[in-house]
Parts: sequence; structure tokens; C-alpha cells
Amino acid sequence: MQTITDSSELQALTATLHAEKKTIGFVPTMGALHEGHLSLVRTARKQTDVVIVSIFVNPTQFGPHEDLSRYPRDLDRDLELLRPLGVEYVFLPTPDEIYPTGFATYVTVEGLSEKLEGASRPGHFRGVATVLVILFNLVRPHKVFMGQKDGQQTVVVKKMVRDLRLPTEIIVLSTTREADGLAMSSRNRYLSPPERQAATVLFRALQQAQSRFANGERDAEAIRQAMQEVIAAEPEAQLDYIAITDDKTLAPQSDLAGKTVLISLAVKIGKTRLIDNVVLP
Ligand code: AMP
Repeated sequence: MQTITDSSELQALTATLHAEKKTIGFVPTMGALHEGHLSLVRTARKQTDVVIVSIFVNPTQFGPHEDLSRYPRDLDRDLELLRPLGVEYVFLPTPDEIYPTGFATYVTVEGLSEKLEGASRPGHFRGVATVLVILFNLVRPHKVFMGQKDGQQTVVVKKMVRDLRLPTEIIVLSTTREADGLAMSSRNRYLSPPERQAATVLFRALQQAQSRFANGERDAEAIRQAMQEVIAAEPEAQLDYIAITDDKTLAPQSDLAGKTVLISLAVKIGKTRLIDNVVLP
């Protein structure tokens, strides 16, 4: 496993891989790796010839009052976790490598970026889309592996790939969860033991939605109410939003009959903001 910090070096390398007709699998991450990230890497390993993982805490996707400076960073451990998985290259750029002085070009996926997470985190998806276009241009991946955990991100990135005719395929893999249902996240490290207990409330609310739906409920408002009650019963939890939307356009839905919907929510547990989602049916 080789680490690369220089983007020209990475570009030269991926040009060679293309010349050799190797398929490239790419897993972009912000590090503080957990089993969710590793599941993406394992699938990339199975589906492509050469696996490239990036670890980059992307400053442009954090708002001014968000957790950029305290976001967990644990590079030695991350590399130890990746080594046994047969990853060929790990790209570890500095912020200056990605955004050199004078950098001025940003990518905005209009219409999708302002909804859900984007409403609570203005500019977040502009940062995500911009860094991913840069990384895709450097890595030139045949396939990019991303998690359903960040459901809206997958919708935004797929749209960007279509609109900009980027020659890559976005593969979305299911959310890896702890035994009690909590979606794995680098931010779970922020939780105190009682908060960690309380954090299962996101999964419990989604389970409530799933069981209502399984029992035939198709009124989005009734499902949202039921989820809200689960959240309200958890004293540590403060609801940011529950959204019941079309899974591709992210347009709000009221009657769910015959539709595929994305049910997503964001909840603050203490100071830590967590997100989760399910797609139904
Ligand atoms: P992050 O490091 O949080 O930017 O995440 C990097 C990639 O890992 C993204 O595609 C995430 O959706 C994915 N990911 C994060 N958590 C999980 C999880 N619990 N299960 C599956 N994929 C995940």
C-alpha cells in the first residue's frame, strides 16, 4: 500500500493505470475510518483491479460554525485498517494541494443541494461536489463507492456525474450499523456514554417509519408524526428535521402509495449532529 500526497504524482499514476487498461475503484473519505468505510473498500476490492482511497477532511464542506477543527483525525490507525484490505494507493492531500492559493472554481448542483441537509448546512454540497470533481479528475475512477448513510450526498453526486458527463459510475452501498442499529459515523466518537445510548433514537425512529409502512400506512404526515414522537421521548435528542421525499428528486411527498421514498432525519444528541435514512419500500 502506497501513500501519495502530491496530486501530479497521482495523476501520472492513474494515467498509467488507464494505459494498462486497469479498472480503478475509488473510495473518497474524510478518515477516522470505521467498518462502514471498510465495507466500501472491500466491495471496491472485489469489483475493480486497483483500489484508491482518499483521506481528506474537506474544509469547503464545513460551515463556519461546524466541527472542521475538531473533526477526528487518526491517520496512523486509518492506514493500519486499510493495509490488510489490499488497497493499492491512499491519497492524502493537504488542503493547499486541493485548494492552492487563488483557487476560485466551485461546482453547485442546483435544486438538490438546498434541500434537507443543504437547508441546515448551506454550502455543504457545494463543498462536496467541488472536492469530488477535483478528486475524480485526479483519480479517474471507473467506479466510485459511496454509502447510503449519506443518502442525499449520493443523489447529488449521481446528478453531478450525469450533468457533467463524468466518465464514472457511482455505486451506493448499504449503511453499516452497530449492533443496536446506530449508523456508523466518524462523529459517533464525539458521543459520551449516555449520549451514545440516546443516539439509537435515529434508528428507532426509522424503524417506527418502516413498521408503519409495512402495516400499510401511506400517509407521510402520519409516519412523520410517529417518528417525531419517538424523538420527543428521548430527552438527549433535539430534532433538526424529518423529511419524506422522492428518492431521486428529493421533492417532499405526502401520499406514499406506489412510490419509492427516502425517509431521512437529522438529530442533535448533545452537541453532536447525526443523520440517518432509509429507502422504502
Ligand atoms: P465520510 O468519511 O464520512 O465522508 O464518508 C466517506 C464515505 O463513507 C461516504 O460515501 C459515506 O457515505 C460512507 N459511509 C460513512 N458511514 C457509513 C456507514 N455507516 N455505512 C456505509 N457507508 C458509510
